[in-house]
Amino acid sequence: MADKAPEDAYSAEPFVPSRGGLPALRKAAAGCRGCPLHRDATQTVFGTGDPHARVMLVGEQPGDQEDRLGKPFVGPAGKLLDRALAEAGVDPAEAYVTNAVKHFKFTQAEPRKRRIHKAPTLREMTACGPWLARELELVEPELIVVLGATAGKALLGASFRVTQVRGTVLEEEIHGRPERLVPTVHPSAVLRADDREAAYRGLVADLEVAARALA
Ligand code: SF4
Repeated sequence: MADKAPEDAYSAEPFVPSRGGLPALRKAAAGCRGCPLHRDATQTVFGTGDPHARVMLVGEQPGDQEDRLGKPFVGPAGKLLDRALAEAGVDPAEAYVTNAVKHFKFTQAEPRKRRIHKAPTLREMTACGPWLARELELVEPELIVVLGATAGKALLGASFRVTQVRGTVLEEEIHGRPERLVPTVHPSAVLRADDREAAYRGLVADLEVAARALA
């Protein structure tokens, strides 16, 4: 079984269909066992939104509410992101939203205690990469908004530092395709910030760069 493989062998690749559109991809992802994260999570949380979106928003992984509901960015961070996008001039309804890792990773002290988000490892991000690669291939967005360090590392490599490149337009080859990217912080970092208003303004300013790049 794939989840008994050594960590280096973790990969979603055997589960990714070579043909079909996003619905086929989403259906196949529901059965992914490419790394151990599927074991404790409720379900695969696949990307959603306009299949011909001009902008793809890539976050880290589903959170607690996303894991239960099976949809990305439906919790508090998602609501904040929608508000920031609208304020920056990017219609959230015209975007495609997804995560670098499709299963919720968490720790839990006891079965009924709150599930605490845990960052995925580089190996887990790499294992899940084939799903994101196919989403990019099918949606063909004009711009990728990279939400936070984990999404940045998954797309641009382990040396990615969101503080160094946020709010700039990068041009990089991603999964063999030339892409334009605008990195910013993850909206959950805004919710955790001491000065939440300043952090929110920073997120909106970065998203305005994305809006201008799409104009
Ligand atoms: S996290 Fe990604 S690679 Fe791992 S089981 Fe889930 S969908 Fe598959």
